[in-house]
Amino acid sequence: QSITTDMATLTKEVKKFATDKKLEIENLKVREEYRREFMGNVSHELKTPLFTVQGYISTLVDGVRDKDQRKKYLERAEKGVERLIYIVEDLDMISKLEMGDLNLEFSEFNIVELIQNVFDLLEMQADKKNIILMFDRKYNKPINVFADQEKIQQVLTNLIMNSIKYGKENGTTEVSIEDLVKNKIIVRVRDNGEGIEQQHIPRLFERFFRVDKSGARSEGGSGLGLSIVKHIIEGHNEKIYIESEYGKGSEFSFTLEKKK
Ligand code: ADP
Repeated sequence: QSITTDMATLTKEVKKFATDKKLEIENLKVREEYRREFMGNVSHELKTPLFTVQGYISTLVDGVRDKDQRKKYLERAEKGVERLIYIVEDLDMISKLEMGDLNLEFSEFNIVELIQNVFDLLEMQADKKNIILMFDRKYNKPINVFADQEKIQQVLTNLIMNSIKYGKENGTTEVSIEDLVKNKIIVRVRDNGEGIEQQHIPRLFERFFRVDKSGARSEGGSGLGLSIVKHIIEGHNEKIYIESEYGKGSEFSFTLEKKK
């Protein structure tokens, strides 16, 4: 009888071992597929700015007589390199986030102050398009939240930067905060820019997705900003929403936990 019991235990163990191995292999396959697709996207994203920079440098090497023209080409090459840096930083971030390497560091901080800091950092970009960044004065009193401050700063930066990039000249970007139930607040970033067609909205948070328009491309994003935002917010177990009307503007909003 003991042999039968032993056999039964052994069979069970072998089965479990096989299932575990199968799962492990499935996991590796998924990772490998992810890696392959990611690498494909990465080289595609890097090629355009690299060729642009190469083009300007080659022209300069061949010799450009006019001093102003020379300066213009150098500046464009510099811009291309800046763009490459942004893309590489975003890639670094998204690969960490997608591998589940979020490493949130929770602390209490004043979200009002953080929004004002982000406004200060983006003021120059907004000025270039004469976009006014608005944040209602009534929120000047501190609102303390419990979250990863650096990551929430990144969320705000990406959303506000998008509202500037896809906003119209002389437009506005308006940030507001509202109380929700159960110690939650909702932060809204609203613009009156180009808006997004309904059919694109479901795919907006996918990495590398862009509404395919030459306009969006020339704005020089990586198509990673919103997927980074989604990962960060969902990593906090919070929610992100989007409302947009084509031609009228968009509103991105997310929830946060208020300090108890
Ligand atoms: P990108 O680097 O292209 O800006 P994002 O992931 O931040 O990448 O955004 C994805 C796409 O969503 C953008 O290319 C743009 O088409 C659209 N989008 C994002 N924010 C806005 C906005 N505020 N108004 C209109 N379109 C937007």
